[in-house]
Amino acid sequence: MTPQKTGDGGIILTSAEDLLNWARLSSLWPMGFGLACCAIEMMATFASHYDLERFGIFPRPSPRQSDVMIVAGTVTFKMADRVRRLYEQMPEPRYVISMGSCSNCGGPYWEHGYHVVKGVDRIIPVDVYVPGCPPRPEALIGGFMKLQEKIRGEHPLSQNKPAPTLLLQMEAEEEAKV
Ligand code: SF4
Repeated sequence: MTPQKTGDGGIILTSAEDLLNWARLSSLWPMGFGLACCAIEMMATFASHYDLERFGIFPRPSPRQSDVMIVAGTVTFKMADRVRRLYEQMPEPRYVISMGSCSNCGGPYWEHGYHVVKGVDRIIPVDVYVPGCPPRPEALIGGFMKLQEKIRGEHPLSQNKPAPTLLLQMEAEEEAKV
């Protein structure tokens, strides 16, 4: 039997950290861009059949309004610089979901793809990896749920992510040029 609503108020006790984390994980705004075929599955996830908005997740057109980057597709060396720049334009706290084999490790290009970065975690820190080629929308939704779990357990002010290896190498090369 469905309980009747009485209109009587109640009291919820919680900590400020839990409240902040709950607000943060309930309104994840991903950046709307894709790099290759995985982006088609990402777009399907945003569409009405899978309806990500029921989780408070909907894409934004600017990195300055976003707190999640979904890297959906093949990251070429030509694009790596742009991906990194977009990531840096996002306000803290920011998160990254790597969607699909290409973004996770180079995918079909892992051995002979001279033009492909072998994992986007070499240029930006990744929070959740979604496997597949391409992953289905359900897998991306699962990735968001993993990210929500991660946010639920973290301290709201901590953002100590290690610098990726390729980025350190690129910065060292830039310094050597100066
Ligand atoms: S993982 Fe597969 S589907 Fe996704 S971008 Fe690479 S080749 Fe395309």
